[in-house]
Amino acid sequence: SKVVTDVTCPFCGTLCDDLEITVSDDGKEIIDCQNACAIGSEKFLHVRKEGRVTRPRKRQPDGSYKEISYDEAIEYTAQMLAKAKKTLWYGWASTSCEAMAIGHKVAEKAGTIVDNCATVCHGSSLLAIQDVGVPSCTLGEVKNRADRIVFWGCNPAHAHPRHMSRYSIFPRGFFTTKGHKGRKIICVDCRYTDTAKCADEFIQVEQGYDYELLDAFRTVARGQPIPDVVGGVPKEKIISAVNTLKEGRFGVIFFGMGLTHTLGRNHNIDIAINLTRDLNDFTKFSIIAMRGHWNVTGSGQVLSWQYGFPYCVDLTRRTHARYNPGETSSVDLLRRKEVDACICIASDIGAHFPIEATRHMAQIPSVCIDPHINLTTEISDVHIPVALVGVEVEGCAYRMDNVPIACRKVVEPPEGMLTDEELLEKVYDRLCEIMGDA
Ligand code: SF4
Repeated sequence: SKVVTDVTCPFCGTLCDDLEITVSDDGKEIIDCQNACAIGSEKFLHVRKEGRVTRPRKRQPDGSYKEISYDEAIEYTAQMLAKAKKTLWYGWASTSCEAMAIGHKVAEKAGTIVDNCATVCHGSSLLAIQDVGVPSCTLGEVKNRADRIVFWGCNPAHAHPRHMSRYSIFPRGFFTTKGHKGRKIICVDCRYTDTAKCADEFIQVEQGYDYELLDAFRTVARGQPIPDVVGGVPKEKIISAVNTLKEGRFGVIFFGMGLTHTLGRNHNIDIAINLTRDLNDFTKFSIIAMRGHWNVTGSGQVLSWQYGFPYCVDLTRRTHARYNPGETSSVDLLRRKEVDACICIASDIGAHFPIEATRHMAQIPSVCIDPHINLTTEISDVHIPVALVGVEVEGCAYRMDNVPIACRKVVEPPEGMLTDEELLEKVYDRLCEIMGDA
């Protein structure tokens, strides 16, 4: 066996890049996975899980699936794209930026809508950032400089298990030689999470009152009076927390879906960013979104550099891209039954979308491109399995702090299996043949 070092984990937005993977001499089997958390190891150790689908499958009229060739699956996808009036192409979070660029070439040719998982997670953060900008930093700066950490509406102990040990709570850095002992951790949440257990101070906000509480933090930071209780939190606790933040040398606010998906949504992020700005009058402060799926940040980056918008990109006019979340967002398009074909790539509509949206996907021609069987593959007309990016194919992905990281290939994919890039290139070629110069 041999050990592959400096491997990047392709599971969550932390993109830990210190994994050591032991593989068999023939380069086909993964024997051991060191340094990853439980969910990261699972992704590596179960690559060759029994029952893995290695060839495309087509749904039959009786609901069963029949194996088809890659050529047949490519033909179905290209014909579907050519015939549909309006196709939704959703997902992208678990594939590489290189594959995204090729997929967008196909989407431009077919005139589809391209949307990613931000539409159901940090889309509201992107809206706020477009409105007011974002004073941010890298996770490396957090590790080396930050002595004040706020977790607001996020629970990295479960969602990003090594975030706290690599960057935010425990590690010793250049200016943070005392590690955990030199940091003050504040956790704001409506429930007592496992992350809250690691915090010096837990502030329990009443569900739906994050905006009011953030507003109170700003008011206190500016030295103005606030009511006795805000969002269920006593005034004294708010004043004490704000003083803790102001007294630090370098602070960071990490926020998650507890803030983006509660009452106020993008306005919550807007005011959290403005609180960060206010705190910069006293010390250095940054704010970072806890992006969940591995390369969801990369999808926003690739879409932005190609079309100027990070999600909900409407390419149906072909001459130019349009962007209007609420109108061009996946859930809304599916719920309003506005699309007549759907492709889900490297994500899971069935697991994440409301039932009415999922139901419409099940009723229209659809393709799911994903290495594994998931809830979406089971409602799609065609399931095309592909090699696992970051395990069986190399590629670039963006960490939650917008730092691009090269991901290594560790083992060979099953024989004859296509990668996302190979598959999408073939779909593009076939689409060009069908559509000509249209
Ligand atoms: Fe992988 Fe995230 Fe765990 Fe790091 S924290 S090993 S990136 S799942």
